[in-house]
Amino acid sequence: MGISKLTEEQVYEYDVNVKFYNNTRVVVDTEITPVYCMACSNQTGGLYHYDGSRYGQVGTVSCDVCHAEIFCTDDDNYRYQIHMSTKEYYNRFLCTKEEFDNKYRRVTLDFSKLYLLSESVFETLTQKGFDLSELGAYTQLSSINQLIREQYARPIPELNLYLDSKIRRVPPVVQEWYQILNELEIAEFKA
Ligand SMILES: [Zn+2]
Repeated sequence: MGISKLTEEQVYEYDVNVKFYNNTRVVVDTEITPVYCMACSNQTGGLYHYDGSRYGQVGTVSCDVCHAEIFCTDDDNYRYQIHMSTKEYYNRFLCTKEEFDNKYRRVTLDFSKLYLLSESVFETLTQKGFDLSELGAYTQLSSINQLIREQYARPIPELNLYLDSKIRRVPPVVQEWYQILNELEIAEFKA
């Protein structure tokens, strides 16, 4: 369990696991995440190895902009979303999620949305003629990128893209995925 900052070399070593349930439902399990600080409203520098939780408590990181301590929690299952707050861990027995979010300024990164790994995106890829059937039920985003690059067989511009203005830097494997989806006009990005 835990969350720890990666070096600029290490950020290339971590992937996003993608599970296809019954060939349709998509479940994301990421090993790498950005961190957003609600105390100063900035994305912290760097990217982080997200190694899951124990009973929902992931760990803390220090904001390198304002030095606030950021508490990270999740749902103790797949790493499909992470919650970050500036005061303390969310305890479901003390208050509702809404009360907690208001009181402790909590942000949730939903990786299906942030990394654009959803059923509709894969459906659109299939409609555009890409054959993803050789991917296993449990695969990684780097393998998906590689398979689409092989089938597309044209160069894809290396643009610096982002989806959410809060999170302008995403893991390299996700940046490559953004570039592919941008080239194929499957999603709209800011640059
Ligand atoms: Zn901060």
